[in-house]
Amino acid sequence: MAQTTAQTPVSGSGGQFLTSTAAPLEVFVREDLSDEQRLFGQTASEFMHKEVLPVVEKLYQHDWALTRELLKKASELDLLRLEIPPAYGGLGLDLISASYVGEQIAINPSFGGSLGAHTSIGTLPLVYFGTEEQKARYLPRLASGELIGAYALTEPSSGSDALAARTTATLTADGRHYELTGTKMWITNGGFADLFTIFAKVGGDKFTAFLVERSMGVVSGRDEIKLGLDGSSTTALMLDNVKVPVENVLGTIGQGHKVAFNVLNFGRVKLGARNMSGVRMALNHAVKYAKERRQFGKAICEFGLIKQKLAGMAVRGFVGDAMSYRTLGDVDRAIDAGDRADGPLVLKTIEGFSVECSINKVWTSEALAWAVDEGLQVFGGNGYSREFPLERMYRDARITRIYEGTNEINRMLVPSRLLKSQPQLFNAEGARAALAVQPPALSPKSPLSGEREFVARLKQLSIALLGSASAAYGDTLKDEQEVLAQIADVIIEAYAVESAIARAEKMAASGDGRASLATDIAAVYTNDASDRVAAAARQVVAALEARTADSALAAGVQRLISYAGIDAIAARRRIADAVIDAGRYPL
Ligand SMILES: Cc1cc2nc3c(=O)[nH]c(=O)nc-3n(C[C@H](O)[C@H](O)[C@H](O)COP(=O)(O)OP(=O)(O)OC[C@H]3O[C@@H](n4cnc5c(N)ncnc54)[C@H](O)[C@@H]3O)c2cc1C
Repeated sequence: MAQTTAQTPVSGSGGQFLTSTAAPLEVFVREDLSDEQRLFGQTASEFMHKEVLPVVEKLYQHDWALTRELLKKASELDLLRLEIPPAYGGLGLDLISASYVGEQIAINPSFGGSLGAHTSIGTLPLVYFGTEEQKARYLPRLASGELIGAYALTEPSSGSDALAARTTATLTADGRHYELTGTKMWITNGGFADLFTIFAKVGGDKFTAFLVERSMGVVSGRDEIKLGLDGSSTTALMLDNVKVPVENVLGTIGQGHKVAFNVLNFGRVKLGARNMSGVRMALNHAVKYAKERRQFGKAICEFGLIKQKLAGMAVRGFVGDAMSYRTLGDVDRAIDAGDRADGPLVLKTIEGFSVECSINKVWTSEALAWAVDEGLQVFGGNGYSREFPLERMYRDARITRIYEGTNEINRMLVPSRLLKSQPQLFNAEGARAALAVQPPALSPKSPLSGEREFVARLKQLSIALLGSASAAYGDTLKDEQEVLAQIADVIIEAYAVESAIARAEKMAASGDGRASLATDIAAVYTNDASDRVAAAARQVVAALEARTADSALAAGVQRLISYAGIDAIAARRRIADAVIDAGRYPL
């Protein structure tokens, strides 16, 4: 397979990783964070520990004045201006820095939600689609926390199907304003934000984004009573002929979908790093408890089934970090190869990684769900109690599979974008070629060379399955969601496995003392993924065979999924022991 670098010109919607190999030295890993990036993270971490955590109970009681006060303090530490261009009072930093800060803020998902909604979906539409005049008017005030931002896309009858929005925008007779009428739902910061990016249809069908100040007439509903994120304001917005000046159209009339969907790519990839913050926290709480809690005369961390949970959390923490920082690094390098100040180019660049952004969103949110669930289990009955931390973490984590596009929608995006961007690869011919190609002979120098060889086959499997499905179903493939989801899972695993291997190899190459632990983790993850991939591939093959009566695919797929496996039980014990020794997530 061709060796490409992250600087490979961006084209299509992503998924280039399926036809290239991630060389460890080219992949950005968390260990590569610069001193400056770490310093921003440290500032954010200290802010959370000193200013936010001591008062969170008040946030859980909906003290939004306090949320605003904290956001203001965050701005004094530059935490609201990271991604705003320097020309408008910002720092114009890279995505890696913003994500690393986001990780620290995410230690309280409620406040993290408020800050994240403000700096990301509340600010980035303006950064990337605003006119000079709009940016000059609003961005410095968003950077300073004088204005708090929010993003209002969802409506009572349109969520995933966002373009079916019913909110209307009608030009007034004098041509100076649009009058917005409709209802928005589930708006983060809805109770106190000052500036909203609101989507409405002009003339009944032209989906358009508007910058709407609260003072123009936006009315908030009551705070929703939610499963989690108790300290984050989520409300409906009522718009009754809200008069918005025509100068406040954001982007082009009828092009609101570009504003709505492009910023989600940023959110999805950054959510990956935030989710891993939750995985690490769940593990840290769980191992502390497991070392203290005694049953049957010993600490419960000595039981194999508890070790299995601790190891599972450590594995997910490592792999998820490997995936998200790999994507963040690739996107940042591609952006820096152009011009970070060129908004349309930046958007096009990240769109070139939209498959990877969806992959990160799905994988990390499901890893977090697993970690908080098993973390809670480690606490037994105490896990179910509000007096212990996992109960809130369990509730707070649930949203991550729902927003930024549900996991169902993101799963469908993975194959559909690949089919759209690389039709020349994902077809019958591409599938045949993928089934025929022998994986490259790899030098056995790395302790992970077997895993490397397997991931090369996983990529061929991804191409073979998607190409065969496309050939079998043609235009009706989009209606075969169950098949597409299984294929998406194979593709997602290919990315996860390769990212884990590359990170472990990079750590080994740099002489990192934790490299053998990282190698164990990458090997365990590959081993476990091989079972999931085999199950998914068999289901796809059976569905395709029933349709085409072609048995050639089954034989080829069998070769691609075969995997000798390792003694994963012993490896997981070693990983758990490292966690127990460290008393925390050890990487
Ligand atoms: C705490 C919280 C904060 C939020 N913050 C914001 C915000 O700040 N701004 C904003 O605009 N929105 C926000 N949302 C809304 C969120 O983005 C939506 O809830 C989400 O997009 C899903 O839409 P929905 O709730 O209408 O579900 P629906 O779209 O009705 O989906 C219901 C189920 O059907 C599935 N489904 C739908 N379509 C398909 C399909 N084509 N194929 C397969 N399955 C499908 C979904 O995956 C889901 O499982 C927030 C929601 C919550 C709960």
